[in-house]
Amino acid sequence: MANKYRFETLALHAGATIDETGARGVPIHRFIGISLMLMVISTFLMSCIPIATDYRIQGFNYIQKGFASLPDSPDLYEEITIEKLKIIIVGSRKNFNWDKAKNEKSGIAGYANTKNEIYLFGKRIGNKIVLNQGVLGHELNHILNFKTNKIADPHQLESLELCALESRKCDAL
Ligand SMILES: [Zn+2]
Repeated sequence: MANKYRFETLALHAGATIDETGARGVPIHRFIGISLMLMVISTFLMSCIPIATDYRIQGFNYIQKGFASLPDSPDLYEEITIEKLKIIIVGSRKNFNWDKAKNEKSGIAGYANTKNEIYLFGKRIGNKIVLNQGVLGHELNHILNFKTNKIADPHQLESLELCALESRKCDAL
């Protein structure tokens, strides 16, 4: 069976000039095969991996990679009990209990206080509430730091991480 060529599509997509000999053409069956493959790949990318899943997994993996890059502390064992920890989940910032956080311009995604309370956004999907794990972890880190300064302030991590990178003594930080 002789191959049929589709020059115009090739020219359109590749910006190539039409070749009378057909030498640079794409056989129609291959063209259809490639098109179907691209459609399947783009459908898979668009529908099977929600962007929320992709970013959450990438974010988690990056945080994990960064943490793994720090030197290990095999003798570490520390127990901290947080009594009456309260998590307040809101759907809009008007339900925050702090004027600064209520302000749209603040961009505050969550906060913690010394009353062992964490305020953060939630989103309802079906009958479940989804939380931002990054914000929850950050605010819980604040509560642990309020409890004991053995736990690093999550806003002071850069100087500690730099200290670890430079293998300095970091006790004064
Ligand atoms: Zn913070």
